[in-house]
Amino acid sequence: MGPSAHTSTGDTASLAQALRPSGIRPSEPRDAAAWDAAATVADPEIPVLSIEDLGILRAAACDQRGVAHVVITPTYSGCPAMETITEDIRTALSDAGFSQVEVVTVLSPAWTTDWMSETGRAKLREYGIAPPTGRAAGPVRVGLSVKCPRCGSLNTKEMTRFGSTSCKALYQCRSCLEPFDYFKVL
Ligand SMILES: [Zn+2]
Repeated sequence: MGPSAHTSTGDTASLAQALRPSGIRPSEPRDAAAWDAAATVADPEIPVLSIEDLGILRAAACDQRGVAHVVITPTYSGCPAMETITEDIRTALSDAGFSQVEVVTVLSPAWTTDWMSETGRAKLREYGIAPPTGRAAGPVRVGLSVKCPRCGSLNTKEMTRFGSTSCKALYQCRSCLEPFDYFKVL
């Protein structure tokens, strides 16, 4: 077993705490292998995005007993997709050779669209959904124009505040006239 500060505890909850879920891929090879396996899991609602792209994947680490621990934060509380995601993580890690897997859900700090990666934003755009513009963190939530994912025009307007899901709003492009979903800043 390699020396690693966070493997001093075998308790799942305290390990998750000790991991300080950062959403950053670990550098230790075995931890990184667990992260990479978990990172292949797709979001059930937007299958083009992985849980890494969305920032749902917060940490991955193996303890002294060889148990792989994966920490996830749901995009919103009570997200029904989390059960599917948890099962998919277990399968992905099992396929990658991890015989024991613990998936821990951490609700605080709450997930924010700020955690969505640049890759994730690009994939979302290609999928036809406008990615969140601006940042949720900071004293002022800056309102930026929403760009049409089809033609790139900033001349867009909000049609309805709530689109196909509560995290999206329905927009229409004034240039190409196409309606599209906008993933709101949360
Ligand atoms: Zn357009």
